[in-house]
Amino acid sequence: MPELPEVEVIRLGLSRKIIGLKIQKIQVLSPKSFLGNPNLVQGQKVLNIWRKAKILGVELSGDKTLLFHLKMSGQLVWKGESGKGEGERFIGGHPTIDMVGQMPNSHTRVIFSFAGGSHLYFNDQRKFGWVKVVQSAKLKVQSEGILGKLGPEPLDKGFAWQVLKQNLLKHKNMPVKVAIMDQSVVSGVGNIYANEACFDARLDPRTKVGSLTDEQFTRLHHGIVKSLQDGIKHGGSTRAHFVDAEGHKGYFLDYAFVYWRDKHACKVCGTEIKKVTLGGRGTYLCPKCQKAV
Ligand SMILES: [Zn+2]
Repeated sequence: MPELPEVEVIRLGLSRKIIGLKIQKIQVLSPKSFLGNPNLVQGQKVLNIWRKAKILGVELSGDKTLLFHLKMSGQLVWKGESGKGEGERFIGGHPTIDMVGQMPNSHTRVIFSFAGGSHLYFNDQRKFGWVKVVQSAKLKVQSEGILGKLGPEPLDKGFAWQVLKQNLLKHKNMPVKVAIMDQSVVSGVGNIYANEACFDARLDPRTKVGSLTDEQFTRLHHGIVKSLQDGIKHGGSTRAHFVDAEGHKGYFLDYAFVYWRDKHACKVCGTEIKKVTLGGRGTYLCPKCQKAV
């Protein structure tokens, strides 16, 4: 499943391709994958692309916004006029072999055709993902349910360590790693980056929230922001190798300190990385660098 950095990499890449283009035609091949009236976006121009947690918002003229949620298996493929050559194709999301093949394919759910001849394909093998058209003005007041329920955006300036502390204290008895993955505490932290954030903060992921000191909350806050930023810098990551909007692979995992590195030596102290299960998820830690409180 794409995590926040992967979605941010798509936002950056797609912005370079479709901002300023007019949607000439929209074809909904799977009604389940498109919520709202597709005719509302026809003829509208792409003004901006933003992200909140793992949701992409494509802001259009005419007070419309298209929301995309890739969920488990969604991907976005943009193809230029000819669809050939470097920079003429633009891929992001769940990696599959057919994402570099013929478009549309059997997993294509929605096709956006732009004036000028390029296309954006929303593909989704398992159909958990969706595209939704909403009024932009409504989103601004956060009345859109899905956005309202999400916690603060970790890469916004307003996300201070005190905000994290306050939100985490709702879960005093929860292990810290499980708590930072609660989307109402902070939005968009999945399993990979939760593991990395705890390592950066030198905290045992099993530590109970209620026992953290202010200094540890500060370190944890730093760890969350830094691991997400590193993920974006390295083009995102998934175990199957994330492919970004221009077909570059993401190699964040080569830079990870603990995630997926059990039985390997800690990059800081050489101790063997240990794997445990916490809240049903694979959890990786260095027993020496990450102290229990
Ligand atoms: Zn270590």
